[in-house]
Amino acid sequence: MKFRTLLFAMLILFVLPACEPDTTYDVVILNGRVMDPETNFDAIRNVGIKDGIISIITEKDISGKETIDAKGLVVAPGFIDGHQHGLEPYAYRIMLRDGRTTLLDLEIGAHGPKLDEWYKRREGNSPINFGVAVAHEFARAEVLDGFTDWKYLYTPDALYSRKNDGWSKTRPTLEQGNEILSLLDEGLRQGGIGIGSTVGYMREGVSAREIFELQKLSGLYGRQIGMHFRNTPGNDVEEIGGIQEMLANAAALGAPAIACHFNNPGYNMVHELLVRMREKGYNVWGEIYPYNAGSTALNAVFLEPEVWVKALGNKYEETVQDVATLEFYTQKSREEMLRKEPIRPVIVYKCPEEWIVDWVKLKGVAIGSDGMPIVPDTGLSWDTPYEDFPNTHPRFAGSFAKVLRLARENNVPLMQAVAMTSYNYAKPLGEMGLKSMQVRGRMQEGMVADITIFNPETVRDNSTFANGAKPSTGILHVLVNGIIVMKDSEPLKEFSAGQPIRFEPLAESKFKPLSLESWTSEFYAVPEDFGGGVPGSQPNKYVSPTEEPDIH
Ligand SMILES: [Zn+2]
Repeated sequence: MKFRTLLFAMLILFVLPACEPDTTYDVVILNGRVMDPETNFDAIRNVGIKDGIISIITEKDISGKETIDAKGLVVAPGFIDGHQHGLEPYAYRIMLRDGRTTLLDLEIGAHGPKLDEWYKRREGNSPINFGVAVAHEFARAEVLDGFTDWKYLYTPDALYSRKNDGWSKTRPTLEQGNEILSLLDEGLRQGGIGIGSTVGYMREGVSAREIFELQKLSGLYGRQIGMHFRNTPGNDVEEIGGIQEMLANAAALGAPAIACHFNNPGYNMVHELLVRMREKGYNVWGEIYPYNAGSTALNAVFLEPEVWVKALGNKYEETVQDVATLEFYTQKSREEMLRKEPIRPVIVYKCPEEWIVDWVKLKGVAIGSDGMPIVPDTGLSWDTPYEDFPNTHPRFAGSFAKVLRLARENNVPLMQAVAMTSYNYAKPLGEMGLKSMQVRGRMQEGMVADITIFNPETVRDNSTFANGAKPSTGILHVLVNGIIVMKDSEPLKEFSAGQPIRFEPLAESKFKPLSLESWTSEFYAVPEDFGGGVPGSQPNKYVSPTEEPDIH
């Protein structure tokens, strides 16, 4: 009897698995058109998922505990949005309807010392993967304005911190500069995905030296800087100049860099710069959102009449629209509103509409929606009906489906569009050592099962400038880490599915404060302040072009 039991056990342990492996997967996706942008694999296959991983991609019959029929549908890597400012429960249903499985805020980001807490708040509370960079403008707000009232810990706090103007207009002393860098360093130490810099909102206060030191710091960690360039929005010369600043630093320092939303005048040259630098081995890349208008706060420095009207030749009546009322501003109504509500959200038209299709044709470019947080978000939750959403820029709801629709309507190869929605962000982030991105953005065996399944004939955006929160359609099923988080276009409250996308926290900081001594030992370029490093220069001496200089 004993011997027979042993034999039976051996049969189960060794013999059975060898001839008949366990073929029950957690989820199977059957008969879909599997597309992998890394290998260009494109064929009808069955996909088996186990323990959150794509275990098998096969022509053979497979079965699982849950089955998704994907006949006639594309099975693509889950969409990665590298530029999303609203990572909150109220946003997740709309994000899932647009196929997004990872949301990253890499342009503004979280306040350095609060980074770990930002991640902790989302663990177990998000059906979508989440990640954040460390915020340059918040480090400046703390050091130069004394702002410490952190509530959201990331972008939505700008609603309050931007009421001051030191973060935007003050040039730090060397000592303040070191404080700013050390706050950023703390966020990098805690595992932040590089630094986010909105220098375009701080063009007077942030010197070329400050940007250089920022990129030097992120480069020490091998991580990128994501930048809203110095002169964005601007004309084609200024736009390109802003990105050349970032790219020259990236090349000199060997530091990765993202050209955030370069869908602006001069985009074709920016694209060529990025492609050529990548060919030479620099880890730099760019993202666009497929709309001809941006969105910002009414008090943005570039909307001041000196810049927006005088320098750039725009008219408020044609270009600056209120998000809530849809009315266009005049110079007078803008001034009145600034007194009441300086950070009121506006839509800013900046390019001809025909350009959008051109952007979708740019090879190698990633999609970053730049979706805006809804602030205040009182009363908004996962359950808020789509119709009850306050208006917002349509990129919030529709960016990814819009790219797929435009690709279909304009004969852009589907594989190219699929790469834009996922792989083109995953690849460069993975190259800088972010492990969670080395196993995403790809439909291959062994990769993480973040998967978006859509109908290539019908997928489309529905959000408009008048109704910015209308969900996309034609995206049917979404999996995050192997868990079905949307079935038949119905988002499911699977709040344990989303995983943090971050670096491992480090015990030691890598930053060494700048000092005159260390500097002069290497370069004759004394950093008395964060200005150009001219020996003998004094802090805070910068004279804004809008102010009358004291000398005649
Ligand atoms: Zn921006």
